Amino acid sequence: MLRQVFMTKNEMTFPVSGTGSAGMEFCLANLIEPGDEVVVGMNGVFGSRLKDVAERCGARVVAVEAPWGRIIEADQIAKALRGRRAKLVAVVHAETSTGVLTPVDEISRLAHENGALFVLDAVTSLGGCPVKVDEWEVDAVYSGTQKCLNCPPGLAPVSLSPRALEAAGKRKTKVQSWYLDVNLLASYWGQERVYHHTAPITMNYALHEGLRLILEEGLEVRWRRHEQNHLALKAGLAELGLEITSQAGHQLWPLNAVGVPDSVDEAFVRKRLLRDFGMEIGAGLGPLKGKIWRIGLMGENCTEENVDAILKGLKLAIKNGH
Ligand SMILES: *Cc1c(COP(=O)(O)O)cnc(C)c1O
Repeated sequence: MLRQVFMTKNEMTFPVSGTGSAGMEFCLANLIEPGDEVVVGMNGVFGSRLKDVAERCGARVVAVEAPWGRIIEADQIAKALRGRRAKLVAVVHAETSTGVLTPVDEISRLAHENGALFVLDAVTSLGGCPVKVDEWEVDAVYSGTQKCLNCPPGLAPVSLSPRALEAAGKRKTKVQSWYLDVNLLASYWGQERVYHHTAPITMNYALHEGLRLILEEGLEVRWRRHEQNHLALKAGLAELGLEITSQAGHQLWPLNAVGVPDSVDEAFVRKRLLRDFGMEIGAGLGPLKGKIWRIGLMGENCTEENVDAILKGLKLAIKNGH
């Protein structure tokens, strides 16, 4: 079922024990050897985390930065790759801290053209908008169970292409993480069932059910539901004089970054929503702290009723928060 949701035939597709960040660490730790040059897109919290993890794996990171709320442009990646022998290019598909969705098929093509692997963070995009691992030729992709897959937190679904698996297999150095070494995990998840670590079995049951529900609904139907509710929220926000601040044309459906008007106390509004309506929305992070609210419409939470409820709640809370 994970293969179906990732839209891949990759044999090495399974849930890593740990949250989404463990999936990030799994992909980078297996592919990076000390001294490797890697190109990392940075346009929010999770791009910065990618850089940090890559550096801890011993990589020499070439950071490709875009302002928070904007996409990483393919041209920027092309420039960064020029004259280098990068081992991989890693970008965040859906930046949850800013609500922007970076188009990645061209970035993937550029990576391969330059002999690099392509690594994708699909933690917030998987199950909420199209993630086409084989069509986009993604070599290593990771996600998390508690975003649009709608499960408890605790597993990181991952998928490695044969090309990535080959790179991990012919390393000169051991993978620095014993726990996340795909070469060891392969015989655990494979036919031999060689004991490696104790899998969090209850989480695997939860993921099994979460995936079953996704496939029952249908991927395309699910994507459309996220798109429609995003558009409904956007229209309702406009009526309140509010707007989504992430780059036009690349606004993410499952996570909506809403500009806070200057005259409004943003923390007061969030507290009121929680206290009076039992609804929790996110605050801005990093340079967007105090400037945006982040409204999640993910998985089962992404409904017309919830869009109506948050719009009503925001209207009242803002009236009181001036
Ligand atoms: C949530 C998130 C992560 C990290 O996942 P955890 O489950 O919190 O470890 C990584 N990348 C993105 C884009 C995320 O939204």
